[in-house]
Amino acid sequence: MPDINLTCRDCGKPFDFTERDQEFYAEKGWQNQPTRCRDCAKARKADVNGGARGADRQMYPAVCSDCGKSTTVPFEPKEDRPVRCMDCFKASKG
Ligand SMILES: [Zn+2]
Ligand SMILES: [Zn+2]
Repeated sequence: MPDINLTCRDCGKPFDFTERDQEFYAEKGWQNQPTRCRDCAKARKADVNGGARGADRQMYPAVCSDCGKSTTVPFEPKEDRPVRCMDCFKASKG
């Protein structure tokens, strides 16, 4: 299998879909050719991983069991578990 010359869709630079990469893709059963060079593929992967940890976390409304203030928490409040606002949470940690 000869190397295939492809163009990265992100940076527009030509890159090689090497014999080794082709074997890797075949092993995985992937039908597609890569659309990005290694650098851009790496950057994109880092992006996706970073994004998952980022600001898009769902917040739930809750009432603080200590001070009664309404607040939001990053998990679904359960009846049997006390929810604390950020202030009380910090205070409880000392
Ligand atoms: Zn690229
Ligand atoms: Zn509170």
